Amino acid sequence: MERKNVWSSYGKKQLAELEKLNKNYRAFLDRGKTERECIREAVRLAQEAGYRDLKDVIKKGETLQSGDKVYNVCMEKAIALFHIGSKDIEKGMNILGAHVDSPRLDLKQNPLYEDTELAYLDTHYYGGIKKYQWVTLPLALHGVVVKKDGSRTEIVIGEKENDPAFCITDLLVHLSAEQLEKKASKAVEGEALDLLIGNIPLKDAEKDAVKENILALLKEQYDITEEDFLSAELEAVPAGKARECGIDRSMILAYGQDDRVCAYTSLEAMLDAKKVKRTACCILVDKEEIGSVGATGMQSRFFENTVAELLNCMGDYSELKLRRVLANSRMLSSDVSAAFDPAYASAFEKKNAAYFSHGIVFNKYTGARGKSGSNDANAEYMAQLRATLDKSQVAYQTAELGKVDFGGGGTIAYILALYGMQVIDCGVAVLNMHAPWEIVSKADVYEAKRCYAAFLQD
Ligand code: MN
Ligand code: MN
Repeated sequence: MERKNVWSSYGKKQLAELEKLNKNYRAFLDRGKTERECIREAVRLAQEAGYRDLKDVIKKGETLQSGDKVYNVCMEKAIALFHIGSKDIEKGMNILGAHVDSPRLDLKQNPLYEDTELAYLDTHYYGGIKKYQWVTLPLALHGVVVKKDGSRTEIVIGEKENDPAFCITDLLVHLSAEQLEKKASKAVEGEALDLLIGNIPLKDAEKDAVKENILALLKEQYDITEEDFLSAELEAVPAGKARECGIDRSMILAYGQDDRVCAYTSLEAMLDAKKVKRTACCILVDKEEIGSVGATGMQSRFFENTVAELLNCMGDYSELKLRRVLANSRMLSSDVSAAFDPAYASAFEKKNAAYFSHGIVFNKYTGARGKSGSNDANAEYMAQLRATLDKSQVAYQTAELGKVDFGGGGTIAYILALYGMQVIDCGVAVLNMHAPWEIVSKADVYEAKRCYAAFLQD
């Protein structure tokens, strides 16, 4: 089946739209390098687009009706947005879902130590990474430190031009004869992923003088003590901004595009939607990279509870109604797909691989070893989507994640499918997925947004 590189089909107007969207997407990536930062940015954009906080609506005892737009945030790490349609909500919603957490290195609860006059912050990696990719790179620290009195200090170090950055060292090649014989999974061990943060000793300190100096600086600059690390969430991420990639500027090179590329395009389509018949919904969740667990992951009742609150505000809550709304809903569960990489062609099956600039990717199923763990979408639903996308002339392709039995991966699709709704996996193709710097095609970003917009209007 022939599917074409979509760049050659664009006229002037579409190219201008594509560039604008991708510019805004890069700005979103720069402002959102952690799940909290992404949700904060989503709230800002939603408010600009006329969305109101559902918690305020509830507090004021207001009622909601067709045309109203609300959002609900869970612990600053997940959000659900709703745009109430003209049709009875019991007929179901059109739901877009994606995740905003990305692989990174989290500081341990007791992270600070000194060894041989060098101070370090010890980390535990989050999500699946190839550890050898995270050494000898400039890293930034993002996150919050919460004190016992509940006050919070937001921390971002390493993004501004004059900021210091951090680094994880690697052994010089001259002495690496032994290391280079090791398996790649063992060449750099998880416990060796510690951030180098200082070398100046505190005057007159008796022991661990470099560490003491760091603590003095932390106290002076951020008013935090070593104990405060116990209640902190600090994430080391690649330092620097998202950039265009290639002489032709056809791609974007950035950290955290899994899955912020789908999250941002879903959000944009949601905020852009003018009038909708079926109630539109967009969910951006946390913790996908570690199994969608926790209160802010997709497995949490947060989403279901929010829909219950929404129905209640519409003056029409019942347990049965809630179940019908969910069961009659349709969802695009978006997560990035592996783009075919000619350098590693043997990992892919060419007929069922995703290609850069061939549009948004649909995965009828994901999973590994005989589709295990997959939400296998129904043929009827895929047929309906084909009709919608062809009508709106959205470029799309279908793919599997690599060859049979080469590996696999999970998404949030199976969790929403528990309600008995139609769900399918889709998303944008990425090169170097889960590496510190990932690459996508700008055309695919554009087609993803167009796909989501067409879906919400369906
Ligand atoms: Mn993902
Ligand atoms: Mn991932």
